[in-house]
Amino acid sequence: MCLQSLPMEAAATHTIDGKPVDGTQFFDVINPATASPFAQAPDASREQLDQAVEAARKAFESWRAVPHERRREILLGFATAIRSETENLARLLTREQGKPLAAAVREVQATAARIEGLVSFELTPETLRSDASGRVVLDYQPLGVVGAIAPWNSPLVLATQIAAQALVAGNSVIVKPSPFTPLATLRLGQIAARTLPPGLFNTVSGGNELGRWMTEHPGIEKIGFVGSVATGKRVLASAAASNLKRVSLELGGNDAAIVLADADIEAIAPQLFWGAFVNSGQRCMAVKRVLVHESVIDRLGAALVRLANQAKVGDGFEPGVELGPVQNRPQFERVLGLIKDALARGGYALAGGEALDRPGYFIAPTVISGVAEGVRLVDEEQFGPVLPLLTFTEVEEAVTRANATRFGLGASVWGGDPERAAEIARRLEAGTVWVNSHGGSAPQIPFGGFKESGVGRGLGLIGLKSYAEPRVLHLPPR
Ligand code: NAD
Repeated sequence: MCLQSLPMEAAATHTIDGKPVDGTQFFDVINPATASPFAQAPDASREQLDQAVEAARKAFESWRAVPHERRREILLGFATAIRSETENLARLLTREQGKPLAAAVREVQATAARIEGLVSFELTPETLRSDASGRVVLDYQPLGVVGAIAPWNSPLVLATQIAAQALVAGNSVIVKPSPFTPLATLRLGQIAARTLPPGLFNTVSGGNELGRWMTEHPGIEKIGFVGSVATGKRVLASAAASNLKRVSLELGGNDAAIVLADADIEAIAPQLFWGAFVNSGQRCMAVKRVLVHESVIDRLGAALVRLANQAKVGDGFEPGVELGPVQNRPQFERVLGLIKDALARGGYALAGGEALDRPGYFIAPTVISGVAEGVRLVDEEQFGPVLPLLTFTEVEEAVTRANATRFGLGASVWGGDPERAAEIARRLEAGTVWVNSHGGSAPQIPFGGFKESGVGRGLGLIGLKSYAEPRVLHLPPR
């Protein structure tokens, strides 16, 4: 099929109270592989947000009383409906986000799997004390209406993981996708309208203003947010100033991978490469800087260059494409700016180093050496297909440098002696630390950041508990 001839999408709708709701205003959605608009998304008004909050509040009153087993069945029905629309959702994702179609299919499957995994947890009451004087029991009460605010890198799975935790815990949700990638999420709202009670899962799209209105809204009890540190701080401030909303913040990272002198370079290079470049580097837990022992930098550099030069970059609909474009123009320009700055400050591009000469926001997979701390590419989160290689001499120094950041999302240690690598891993200040791998998450495993990489943990039982209010009951003896 000629990719340029794909038709414009029909105008998407919000889903409020189980019904499609048209926008009164619209904004363009750009295909990052062509840099051209291909659809429009509705821009929610304040009144539409109020309607969504009202509908969610009504739905919450019934949902909170639904027993866990029944909630589980209903939510599993939603997951099944998502799986049955895998192809439609994946095609929308590739067009709006840019990722290769196979990766988009995996994202849709992971979206359903988030729900299936999270419903396996139940917030059962815990008896803290039981004696002749009575019983003390801790139970978990749902909060009310939860606002889910998501970024553009993996729009479906991230919005859904917030929503699924909220719903399993007995809340209702209003989901707001990024204005860069609204369409697959709006489609998800339509699937929810067919499979969930009305008002339980509402979707509204709009710009950053809409996100701010949600954080200020007195009818919303909690914001589950995934996005950048800068926006996360705004969300926290606004949530505090309104009704002291609860917040979960899953924010950016600058994950270091420490490669020890005894690492099997040829064996680890592909994992390290894809740990950094998956989704064109647009992943919170991507490897964002490599600290490699000086004795093996040449071999590691050569292996990464080979992989960078082999990776097939292109439109996500082209067969065999492994890396799509950067998702949007501001991010494309930012990443190119970081590369330019690094090259002007002593760095040299072992691979890539520039945009591809074609329409769309494509950057050649770039590996840069000769840089160190103090260069923006090393100190900031690049969130794009460029990886700096830094050398170290002593392990002590590598640990200090890995930890010397305001971020603390993930980190990894790669070495031939797994026990020694694990010892070093235990010294890293990050929410997730891997040994001889990097990246990946699962609904059962908590995920989140130290320091400015976030507040709280998502997923797992810990994540689920953060969507509920613990209540202590002092009861008479049995
Ligand atoms: P962003 O912070 O710019 O936007 C995220 C969402 O917040 C969007 O929906 C946006 O419209 C909304 N928003 C913007 N201003 C707002 C405001 N004042 N109040 C409320 N909402 C507002 O982030 P992005 O550029 O879309 O995503 C990239 C960032 O997300 C990266 O830093 C990445 O590391 C991070 N991320 C983190 C995780 C994680 O799990 N820790 C996962 C994926 C992405």
